[in-house]
Amino acid sequence: MPKLNENFFKLEKNYLFINIAKKIKAFTAEHPEADIIRMGIGDVTLPIAQCVIDAMKKGADEMAVKETFKGYEDSGAGYDFLREAVSGYYKSFGVDVPAQDIRINDGAKADCGNIVDIFGSGNTVLVTDPAYPVYVDTNIMSGRNVIFADSDESNGFAAMPDESVHCDLIYLCSPNNPTGSVYTAEQLKVWIDYAKKNDAVIIYDAAYEAFITEEGIPRSIYAIEGAKECAIEMCSLSKTAGFTGMRCGYTVVPHELTVKNSKGEDVHLADLWGRRQGSKFNGVSYPVQCAAAAVFSEEGQRQTRENIHYYQRNAKLIADTLDELGIRYTGGRNSPYIWMKCPNNMGSWEFFDYLLENANVVGTPGAGFGKNGEGWFRLTAFGDKDKTAEAMERFKKLFG
Ligand code: PLP
Repeated sequence: MPKLNENFFKLEKNYLFINIAKKIKAFTAEHPEADIIRMGIGDVTLPIAQCVIDAMKKGADEMAVKETFKGYEDSGAGYDFLREAVSGYYKSFGVDVPAQDIRINDGAKADCGNIVDIFGSGNTVLVTDPAYPVYVDTNIMSGRNVIFADSDESNGFAAMPDESVHCDLIYLCSPNNPTGSVYTAEQLKVWIDYAKKNDAVIIYDAAYEAFITEEGIPRSIYAIEGAKECAIEMCSLSKTAGFTGMRCGYTVVPHELTVKNSKGEDVHLADLWGRRQGSKFNGVSYPVQCAAAAVFSEEGQRQTRENIHYYQRNAKLIADTLDELGIRYTGGRNSPYIWMKCPNNMGSWEFFDYLLENANVVGTPGAGFGKNGEGWFRLTAFGDKDKTAEAMERFKKLFG
């Protein structure tokens, strides 16, 4: 009989969104007439830009012609045209990431989990709390010790390192899911210095970089000096270009990044990562890579930015409403997420039920993202603009 990976039993029993779905189902069964507005799950709702779809169709047509048909991609790291396009995108906001340091993937979630394959199980992993659940779950599954850095109201939900605590791996996410907070260049420099002092590696999740509006807020950790010697960066086209159903992202492991093996020799993490991907991943489909490259073209950027602006207007409307009602929150400005304090000191799940019952609005209880999320609640700006406006009218009636 095979032995089970009993680390799985250490995971939280129910995944957050399954609980939410159950509650909505039960409520709808009792109130079939209710017009529920969903501001919970962080999925996009606008269709993909036309020029991106055209590029995908062209890629698909090439697959039907003997001369242009593509089978396995040789390197598995992504076609050069896409890696170059990503590199050019970095350049557009002043960051130098060479194409050979970029590997294309089928979304950032998988790589947030996969990357741990190249690190030993004895590592201590530092995760900011609250956090995107994958960081914790994936390390629990592989039996690692996970410790937390508190993100709370006292630091604007942007946790900073405790110099007295040692760790080997650090997960950072900016703009943050769920709190919408962002790290400044100065704050990231503190993390980089801390990582170097501890010989730790930062795994930096930049999935929401396209939502940054404020001048001077870094869109990549590589905008900060010293990051290439200690940080891996993951990014995704899911929220940038509506690729949640297309599946494409990229991970950067800089060629400068080395870690010592047990013999004291420097090992390039990019080599281990390439080996890992070579063994376990066969690349992203050619038409999807064609579509992804089109996102980074001038026209692709123009069209996809229109969608981002649509969501940003929703975020502003939510933030303005909370300002008007005197409800505290973070995010909304450089992020599609608004992280609000539950009114009247309600707990996260209590507020979830209250909002569902009294306003027929669904959000995500902050407690599902970690202990510091208790008493907080995540709203997303990814919905329809009229529905978002209607939800905010219901907020005004309820809390005004
Ligand atoms: N990272 C963060 C912080 C996210 O919120 C998400 C998706 O919600 C992802 C990564 C995963 O994105 P992808 O669709 O590329 O797997």
